[in-house]
Amino acid sequence: MTPDSRNLLTWYQNSRREMPWRQTRDPYRIWLSEVMLQQTRVDQALPYYHRFTERFPDVRALADADLDDVLRMWEGLGYYSRARNLHKAARQIVERHGGKFPPNYDEALALQGIGPYSASAVLSIAYNKPHAAVDGNVTRVISRLFAIGDDVRKSSVQKEIRDRADALLDRAKPGDFNQALMELGATICTPVRPKCPDCPWQQECIAYQTESTSRYPFKSPAKKRPHHHIAVGVVMDDSGRYLIARRPDEAMLGGLWEFPGGKQEHNEPLSQTVRRELHEELGIVVSVDEEPFEVIRHAYSHFTITLHAFFAKMDKASGAPAAQNGEPLRWVEPDELTEYAFPKANRRITDTLVKYRTS
Ligand code: SF4
Repeated sequence: MTPDSRNLLTWYQNSRREMPWRQTRDPYRIWLSEVMLQQTRVDQALPYYHRFTERFPDVRALADADLDDVLRMWEGLGYYSRARNLHKAARQIVERHGGKFPPNYDEALALQGIGPYSASAVLSIAYNKPHAAVDGNVTRVISRLFAIGDDVRKSSVQKEIRDRADALLDRAKPGDFNQALMELGATICTPVRPKCPDCPWQQECIAYQTESTSRYPFKSPAKKRPHHHIAVGVVMDDSGRYLIARRPDEAMLGGLWEFPGGKQEHNEPLSQTVRRELHEELGIVVSVDEEPFEVIRHAYSHFTITLHAFFAKMDKASGAPAAQNGEPLRWVEPDELTEYAFPKANRRITDTLVKYRTS
């Protein structure tokens, strides 16, 4: 039996959660919400969405903004390439499409950071275009509905899931259908203990009917993530300002600010890592405390780190710091640290510095 989209749409009408981006057909706000909700839960994204739309109410406002401002509004959401891409795409929309999100699929796909999922979601919801949007939630539902037992990371399986979603799509109401399917995955067809008795497609679902929901979606075990030790130096000048450096745009966490430092090499003492990195990166000689004043563990999607923060003192004879990669450096008053966007682990260091100051 093929699942009937009408059952899903009726369920969605009665059960959907109200969200600000569901009360608008404005493609900019729908696009923004879709970008924020990638890798982020709704309750976490909501305050960011409100702050962001207040500050940048439309595509033009976002395109006109400085990247630093955009990153600052994004700080805490993580996956900063999303914010950089959003900003760049806003500029492309202004330049190429007069400030209006393009209703054409290929033109949408040509924008920075817009993949098949985002293009389909925005076009179906804002413009009622018949494109099925497949995210992690939809992948889970479809793999269970049709008992797809192969690894969902395989491109052939992803294609099968997209084809299945496309065949199910309600062509009269593609936006509602896509949102309904994502909502089903988020609230009913959850990763563990799905609430199958409440599901509008329980009759058609092969996994439910064969009591095998826990088998889907199948993912082969992930490789262990590597772990790195990073040591950074907190250098203060005679006026009590801290030295911070901007990360290159093309690097991971590009455009964010950080305390200078780098990866430990060959098990060298971590204080030596700071001395070496600051000399290599900024051309300065520093003396470094033996022990870090803060140690932070943090996980990224492909690796984990332990960040060791040391107080360091600059030898004035080594001259003014200058970043070898040409990126800007700033000496910043402690009170100004909140005005710069930092990655999460570095933000913990600025919080500690502010605490030291007020205690
Ligand atoms: S019946 Fe259960 S496993 Fe199947 S789609 Fe519905 S919630 Fe998911």
